[in-house]
Amino acid sequence: MSPEANQSNTSKRLAVKLKPAAQQQLYKKHPWIFEQGIAKIPPGGKAGDLCIVFDNKSNQVIGIGLYDPSSAIRIKMIHHGGGIKIDKLFFQGQLERAIAKRTFFRDHDVTAYRILFGENDQFPGLILDQYNDKLVLKIYSEIWQPYLALLLDIITEVLRPLAIIGRLSRKAAAGGAFPFQDGELLWGELKDPVVQFKEHGVNFQANLVKGHKTGFFLDHRHNRKRVGELSKGKCVLDVFSYAGGFSVHALVGGATEVTSIDISGQAIELAKANASLNDHQGEHMTVAADAFDTLSSMVEQGEQFDLVVIDPPSFAGQASQVKMALKQYGRLARLGSQLTKNGGVLVLASCSSRVSSQSFFDRCEQELMQIIRKFTVMETTFHDIDHPIGFPEGAYLKTRYYRL
Ligand code: SAH
Repeated sequence: MSPEANQSNTSKRLAVKLKPAAQQQLYKKHPWIFEQGIAKIPPGGKAGDLCIVFDNKSNQVIGIGLYDPSSAIRIKMIHHGGGIKIDKLFFQGQLERAIAKRTFFRDHDVTAYRILFGENDQFPGLILDQYNDKLVLKIYSEIWQPYLALLLDIITEVLRPLAIIGRLSRKAAAGGAFPFQDGELLWGELKDPVVQFKEHGVNFQANLVKGHKTGFFLDHRHNRKRVGELSKGKCVLDVFSYAGGFSVHALVGGATEVTSIDISGQAIELAKANASLNDHQGEHMTVAADAFDTLSSMVEQGEQFDLVVIDPPSFAGQASQVKMALKQYGRLARLGSQLTKNGGVLVLASCSSRVSSQSFFDRCEQELMQIIRKFTVMETTFHDIDHPIGFPEGAYLKTRYYRL
C-alpha cells in the first residue's frame, strides 16, 4: 500500500532519506529524527507535512512522521514500518489502541487519567487527558495544526465527552498557528472549568483551563495511593504539595496530621479545597512559602514526621542545569532525612527528564549516608500505567521510598 496524505488538510508529502545512524534509530522505533540525521528532504516543508521515510538501500518505506521546521527534532514519527494510509481511520486506530491500554482504571475508581501520552502513544507532542466526562487536549507542537479538526472529530466520536478544552504549550501558543487560545473550549459545553474526579476513590477537583499542565499531575497517581496506604495514624509532611495530591491521600488514609508546603498561595488553596472534598479526621496544616527555607527552619526547630514526601518541580529545563539540579535534590534529601523520625519513611521524587534515575537515586543516597542515617530502599517506582514509556527520553518520573 502506498502512503497517502489525508485529503482533508493541506499537508504535503515529503520523501525523506536518513543518514545511517538516524536510520538505525528509526529501525529501533525511536520517535524522533533530528535535523542533522536527515540526508535528503525536499525544501520548503511546512509544519505537519507528512514525511515518508525510505530505507537508504532498499528504497522501501520504513516509517512516516510529521515535519516540524521550528524544532531541532525535525521529524516526529507517527508510524514505524511500511507504507500506510494516514487518514481518519489511521488516527482512530491509534487512539483506540491507546484507550485499550488504560482499561485498568475503570475497575479502580479512577476517573481522571491520560489517554494519549505524546510520542509514547504515537502522538508526538500531543497529550489527551480525561477528567471524568471532560477532556483536555494539550498541544506542544505546530505539527498538529493541519490535523486539528480531524482529531476533534475522532475524539468526540470515540470518547463522547461533554467538553474538550484546548491547551497550548508556551511555544505552540507563541507560534500563532492554532485557531484558539490556551484554555479555550474546543467542543461541547463547559459551565465550570473546575471539574471533580476520583483517584482510587479519593475526591479531587482541578481547573482544566488554568491548572498546571492539564490541571493535575496525573503521573504520580500510584505514588499518592501508596502514600495513603502508609499514612494510617501518621504525621505526614508533603513538600511541593501543589493541589495536595499526596496530602489528601494521606488524610483519607488516616493520617493524624498532614502539613502541605508550596510556594504558591493558589496551590495551597487548591490543596485545602481538595482536602475538604473528602471525609477525614486528621488535621490539615498548610504553609505557603519557599520549601528550602521552610524545611531548614523546621530542622532548626527539631520538628520530625513519620512520613515525608518531597516531589519538587523539574530543576533541569536544560542540559546545562543538570549539575545544579542534582545539588538541589541532594539538599532536599538531606533536609528530608533530618525531618524523618527513626523508623519513618522518606519519599523522594524527581520529574527532571534530563536527570537519569540512577544519578538521582545515587545523589540522594550519598546525602543520606553522609549524615549517617541507616536506610533501606522500600520501593522504587516510575510512571503510572497511563504514562507508558516508549523510548528512553520519554522517561522522566522516578520515585524512591526509604525507610530510615
Ligand atoms: N506533588 C504535587 C506536584 C508538585 S508540582 C502533586 O502530587 O500533584 C511542583 C510544585 O512546586 C508547584 O505547585 C510549585 O508551586 C511548587 N514550587 C516550586 N518552587 C517551589 C519552592 N521553592 N518552594 C515551595 N514550592 C515550590
